[in-house]
Amino acid sequence: MSHKRLLLVHAHPDDESSQSAATIARYADEGAQVTLVTCTLGERGEILVPEWNHYSEKELGEHRIAELQQAMDHMGLTDHMFLGGVGHYHDTGMDRAEYGTVIVPPDMPDNAFWNADLLEAANFLVEIIRSRRPQVVSTYNPFGGYGHPDHVQAHRVTMYAVILAGARSHAPELGEAWSVDRVLWGTHNTGMWKQALSIAKERGLKLWDGEERDEDTLGPKEEYIEAVVPIGEYYDVCRAALGSHPSQVNIEDPFWEFHGIIQQLPGAGEAYVFGSGVPFPASDEPHEDLFIGLNLD
Ligand SMILES: [Zn+2]
Repeated sequence: MSHKRLLLVHAHPDDESSQSAATIARYADEGAQVTLVTCTLGERGEILVPEWNHYSEKELGEHRIAELQQAMDHMGLTDHMFLGGVGHYHDTGMDRAEYGTVIVPPDMPDNAFWNADLLEAANFLVEIIRSRRPQVVSTYNPFGGYGHPDHVQAHRVTMYAVILAGARSHAPELGEAWSVDRVLWGTHNTGMWKQALSIAKERGLKLWDGEERDEDTLGPKEEYIEAVVPIGEYYDVCRAALGSHPSQVNIEDPFWEFHGIIQQLPGAGEAYVFGSGVPFPASDEPHEDLFIGLNLD
């Protein structure tokens, strides 16, 4: 029986599968307690399936709950919640100011996650943190990975909630205070992206419209990546989880083929940089265990 308890906070259904599937599956397999919180229903995701184009945002959100459930079944994840309850926060959507720059869209629903009151949103998470008592919490970096407003907001809400959850004087009605040991920010595995990009180029895969991406935008400097959970035996689970979101992801598209190329490289894994709390033990290589160096009770 594992004493590890992991909480992951993601913005939309499918983010858990594209970014954390191996992590979720590996710790679920180990018998750890794994909890996923999804902040919105992803109502404003771009629908890829022509037959579903007539879906309203509300209908898409409902449909995506079922997609997420299927993905969780593949990963062996059973503990899941939407932040504040189903549909409490609406997908903000996103716009692009110029190539590669993601910004807040001009029109937003009233309950868009971007407009959430930070304390209210954090308190929903405080209650979850105090009841699940995770030693490790994972979310996005301050830029939300690529700038999606809901990813940025998920970062802010998570960091705030972790602080408040540990404060005894804060909202005792939400449960007994719990100090999270370590907060991690999921990130691109920079070295793997670079290797996979050259393979994609050789194969003539067209990944993005317009100009090529600057290598510096691919992810953090490799020295900042402190943990990499190997994909390894979980490759099939990762693809099955991703494939559970057909409204958003066609795994045969060049970009998702590229995603698969990255995951099949030797040594590939889901990368994390340190956010706050107990640092990782010093090491020349990234650690494979997110809990290393922590006192697990
Ligand atoms: Zn997302």
